[in-house]
Amino acid sequence: MLAKRIICFFILVSLACSCNNPENPPKQDNTENSTTSPQNTKPLIKAPEFNADSAFAFVERQVSFGPRIPNSEAHRKCADYLVQTLQRLGASTQIQEFQATSFDKKTWNGKNIIGSINPQATKRILLAAHWDSRRFSDKEKDTTLHKKPIDGADDGASGVAVILEILRTIQNAPEKPQVGIDVIFFDLEDDGTPENYKEEDHSNATWCLGSQYWSKNKHQPNYSAYFGILLDMVGAKGAKFYHEPFSLQYAESIVQEVWQTAQRLGFANYFINQRMPSQGGGGIMDDHFYVNRDGKIPMIDIINYENSFPAHHHTQADNLQIIDKNTLKAVGQTLLQVLYNQTLQ
Ligand SMILES: [Zn+2]
Repeated sequence: MLAKRIICFFILVSLACSCNNPENPPKQDNTENSTTSPQNTKPLIKAPEFNADSAFAFVERQVSFGPRIPNSEAHRKCADYLVQTLQRLGASTQIQEFQATSFDKKTWNGKNIIGSINPQATKRILLAAHWDSRRFSDKEKDTTLHKKPIDGADDGASGVAVILEILRTIQNAPEKPQVGIDVIFFDLEDDGTPENYKEEDHSNATWCLGSQYWSKNKHQPNYSAYFGILLDMVGAKGAKFYHEPFSLQYAESIVQEVWQTAQRLGFANYFINQRMPSQGGGGIMDDHFYVNRDGKIPMIDIINYENSFPAHHHTQADNLQIIDKNTLKAVGQTLLQVLYNQTLQ
């Protein structure tokens, strides 16, 4: 069944990926009963095993370049690495270059990195994550650290790593999913206005610059996908993933499918089958918002958030030590299962 598409032109209350300042009144929507829909009873098609050790190595490798701040050497090297890795994993690749201006009027050379598996398949699933890392640690208690960039092992690298490991698993598996898979690693997601920054623009539009660009300038003009899944902060120990409000609004059936699949695989401790507790009830301003609103592709967000972001968010603690292979496994195995369960009907 095609994902329910509810295109909403309201500006909704949002919690920026790093900014907890709701700007607008909460939107009332019809998703309060989202946990009560019928259980999915489709049989699970056997999916191959997701290897969390290999996924962890993909996190490690990205972090090893240093913070992936646009215009830096680490950013350039990591971009090359991601393109080469996608190619090695069987994807045809493309880099979408763009320029964007940040809240502090700096100009950045961004790269959205795009890969495509099984390009002949007409039914396509889009997997996305951001690959840049934040140039501030603005949630550190110690203000002298605020201008220090973060490793972004969780916030950035974990989502990319899970997607790379999904591709590697599929490449090595004798049975492939029936659907085609597209990947977008968005740039400049995490360069929004710091919390303590007084003078300038605190609007939500300072975040997600790569996905904002792509959603209005797709790499193929008529590109679409059956649905999309965004991964953001999917690697930390003890992560909790709830139904994110924008995801429910735009793609509720996909939320149900993913969370029910996770329950059936035994990952209910990670995928909490309830609407996300959030301040004001609003959604998370993340790349999926623009892919839904402007790109018109129903996309959900799997993101670690429960009333607030976890303690390591936008601090120096977002490093390799925070990454737990059990969390990577829960997310990766669930997504593999969702992909293998897709049929062409
Ligand atoms: Zn972030």
